[in-house]
Amino acid sequence: MPEAAPPRLRFAPSPTGYLHVGGARTALFNWLLARRTGGKFLLRIEDTDRARSTDDSTRAIFEGLRWLGLDWDEEVVFQGANLARHREDAERLLANGKAYRCFCTPDELDARRAEAKADKSAFKYDRRCDVLGADEVERRVAAGTPFVLRFRVPEGETAWDDIVHDRIAFPNRDIEDFVILRSDGTPIYNHAVVSDDIAMGITLVMRGDDHISNTPKQVLLYEALGAALPRFAHLPMIHGTDGKKLSKRHGATAVGDYQHLGILPEAMVNFLALLGWSPGGEFEEVMTLEELVTAFSTEKLLRKAAVFDPKKLEWMNGQHLSRIPLAELEPRVTPLLVAAGLATAEELASRRDWYFHLLDLLRVRSRLLDDIVRQAGPYFRDAIEYEPEAVAKQWKEPATVEPLLAATRETLAALGPWEPPAMEAALRALAEAKGVGGGKIFQPLRVALTGLGVSPGIFDVMVALGRERTLARITQAEARLQAMAQAGA
Ligand code: GLU
Repeated sequence: MPEAAPPRLRFAPSPTGYLHVGGARTALFNWLLARRTGGKFLLRIEDTDRARSTDDSTRAIFEGLRWLGLDWDEEVVFQGANLARHREDAERLLANGKAYRCFCTPDELDARRAEAKADKSAFKYDRRCDVLGADEVERRVAAGTPFVLRFRVPEGETAWDDIVHDRIAFPNRDIEDFVILRSDGTPIYNHAVVSDDIAMGITLVMRGDDHISNTPKQVLLYEALGAALPRFAHLPMIHGTDGKKLSKRHGATAVGDYQHLGILPEAMVNFLALLGWSPGGEFEEVMTLEELVTAFSTEKLLRKAAVFDPKKLEWMNGQHLSRIPLAELEPRVTPLLVAAGLATAEELASRRDWYFHLLDLLRVRSRLLDDIVRQAGPYFRDAIEYEPEAVAKQWKEPATVEPLLAATRETLAALGPWEPPAMEAALRALAEAKGVGGGKIFQPLRVALTGLGVSPGIFDVMVALGRERTLARITQAEARLQAMAQAGA
């Protein structure tokens, strides 16, 4: 058997809001498979719902995909530009007897629906227009009576081999003769999608589980239009940590929101990739986009709903913050430091080596870009703020801490080279001479230098601050501790 050609895939969002994380996940999976197999990833904007579609939303979709690093092949298809073909395809179905005109008005249908509800029976179109004689149909058309086109669902069963769910089958008796073209000549969703997917040569349709109920209708349309059926893969839904379908109640659901929260696109795609797919034991969970391309395969798609856990996303972000090249991290952090008033871009550029070293230190304990900014304060400001919890814990006995800090300052002032091994040797010797453990010197010193209870390694902190600022800051802390000791006495 000849090897199957690489698939042509598409992402087909409706531009009626922002790019939702669920949509982004669908886009990502299609993109990954296209890049993995040498296939094509196409983008179709489903803008036929004129009232709800907006240019802003289309723009947000483009921006969101670009931010994630998902580029598309070929020109973007706008569904609304294909109305003539949608109509022609529908008329072809009418001409070859696969569809028929239905003159029932919306009011009549509503009344029948209400009757069915009162009888507690399921409403299904009763085909009354399918049995009209040809003369009668002609008379109504000539009289200008509005009509829709309905697809005539044949008897039997409609089934496909889903890549995720294996065989899915629907008895055709459960599918009513659905409308394909409205009375104004515009297509109904299922018809437009099939007409476009055929025209675009799509061979694999991968989308959310919520479309499973549409798929039998689409399969019937492919068959009626004489087109080859694509393969289908229906991806599991995304739930919040409470097990309910992900919605705004769970917090940010727009990809753009995460961008503004300081999430890196590398982390976002990695996190999204694990919603409904698992790379298998041989791979690590933290992966770059290139690694995801290598690892991606449809065999590892999962069936059960995926859980969107923002804590995991933050953790993932921390992992990527620590791994991306510093040259890529720098342009993302610099504007934030400038906006926080900590430095100007020129100052940072003039101390590039020092700045890169600092970034490298700070990113280790950061999950979000904002964490880097928060920790950066002590290295830029002269005055520092002491975190109350750090003070309460490490400066509990000011009268004991203050003389130790004074001795620390003297030791550091007398130190030869301003380098970690020399600092460590001198301060450990001091601890020994004072008969205390190293922690009694290093922990209060950390608070003195950064105001924080957590920081990079204390020697790295001193190198980043420089000798002068380190000593000045200890002096400042001594004054504070003296005041605390007096107030306490
Ligand atoms: N436009 C549809 C949506 O936003 C998707 C169509 C499809 O993937 O077939 O849900």
